[in-house]
Amino acid sequence: MRLILLGPPGAGKGTQAQRLVERHEIVQLSTGDMLRAAVAAGTEIGLKAKAIMDAGELVPDDIVVGIIRDRIEKADARKGFILDGFPRTVGQAEALDRMLKEKGLKLDAVIEIRVDEGILLSRIEKRAGETPGGPRADDNAEALKKRLEVYKQQTAPLVDYFRSKGLLKTVDGMKGIEEVSRSIEDALGVGNAAAKG
Ligand code: ADP
Repeated sequence: MRLILLGPPGAGKGTQAQRLVERHEIVQLSTGDMLRAAVAAGTEIGLKAKAIMDAGELVPDDIVVGIIRDRIEKADARKGFILDGFPRTVGQAEALDRMLKEKGLKLDAVIEIRVDEGILLSRIEKRAGETPGGPRADDNAEALKKRLEVYKQQTAPLVDYFRSKGLLKTVDGMKGIEEVSRSIEDALGVGNAAAKG
């Protein structure tokens, strides 16, 4: 199964991705996590990305597209994957389309976790206070606002993009974690797998 999780910062993509990983034999590919690892390791990409991420802006498409291209070729991604935080622009989505076509692969669904904008800031601010090892460098109010703005401008258009391809499934992200998780399994038509977990 190959999925995309779409939703603004704080929508719960990471949490739901982990649940999907546990239930289905697929890996979670989070460009945010991969970029943070690159920053921590001090690689060339990490050095380029750090200031951009701290400011809540988007890392250039060619960098993240390159990261994803390398990653989906690894053996553990063969059974399927969930893209979390990618694509984030129409350009990235088009690059992904081309990449999958080249490999003869197809997406099964794009899950949009829809959340009321008003509560996002409070959710994310709470997360900033709870993260072990201190808050993420980009979890400050200013960068968060910027990330929401960037989402609205550059990523939200992907909702229509994937709807027009017949791939979009929207779930209500305002519900509790369990309920959101159930809606996702229902949307995927794998209710039995959900009952196992
Ligand atoms: P969030 O918690 O907002 O969902 P992520 O952990 O997915 O954030 O990403 C953190 C930061 O990493 C983003 O604000 C952005 O700077 C960078 N980033 C992650 N994924 C992408 C991407 N697909 N394209 C461009 N930049 C990205």
